[in-house]
Amino acid sequence: MIAENIKSLRQRIESKCFEVKRNSSGIKLIAVSKTHSVDFISEAFKEGISDFGENKAQEFSAKYSRLGDKVTWHFIGHLQRNKVRYVVPAAGFIHSVDSIQLASEINKYAADNNKIQKILLQVKTSYEESKSGVGNVEELLELARFCEDCANIESAGLMTIAPLTDDITIIRQSFRQLRKLRDNLNSKGFNLKELSMGMTSDFEIAIEEGATMLRIGSAIFGERTRQIPGTKDREAS
Ligand SMILES: *Cc1c(COP(=O)(O)O)cnc(C)c1O
Repeated sequence: MIAENIKSLRQRIESKCFEVKRNSSGIKLIAVSKTHSVDFISEAFKEGISDFGENKAQEFSAKYSRLGDKVTWHFIGHLQRNKVRYVVPAAGFIHSVDSIQLASEINKYAADNNKIQKILLQVKTSYEESKSGVGNVEELLELARFCEDCANIESAGLMTIAPLTDDITIIRQSFRQLRKLRDNLNSKGFNLKELSMGMTSDFEIAIEEGATMLRIGSAIFGERTRQIPGTKDREAS
């Protein structure tokens, strides 16, 4: 089933890219494997998927200890400062950096691990109640500048989660806003390439709006059964 899902997902990505005249080689597909087993990950890996996304430090560590650096790991969940030490040694990219305190902690553990940690700055592009993401332009600029000065951090780009809505216009606005913010920062001398945006329900809009990293779970692995009561699992920490 996973193999078929990946095949049809790739076809959808290809046809959208064709439609909007983008080269699909500029779009990294991250398979969001949270809640799913290592066997599922291995199955996707066999189909040529090399990037996986996890959102909980503990679950991520357990999977990392089984699979190691055979794949590239993306930490995409809200990250508490006291969990940074477990995530930094394993993560290729941390997508959810939204405060100077968190960046500072990441920089410290990256130095301890002798690595340059690639990160993305998470931006709140919607007004919905959500705990993660930088909320305004000044704060984003300040955070970007701080990261620029961290010797063991490399800022690769920006990340956002579109609001949970069926309104395509609102979703598009959120992605467009992320792109504008990135272009704006780059015009100030930053070098942010990546736009991590687009999930199962909205990745085609994200491709239209310039996404370079898609974070897709359900379309590859099927519906998630395990959820944390009282939380939307895409935002849970
Ligand atoms: C779970 C999750 C995804 C993937 O969601 P799907 O709808 O299953 O594709 C993407 N991004 C984040 C931050 C997530 O937590």
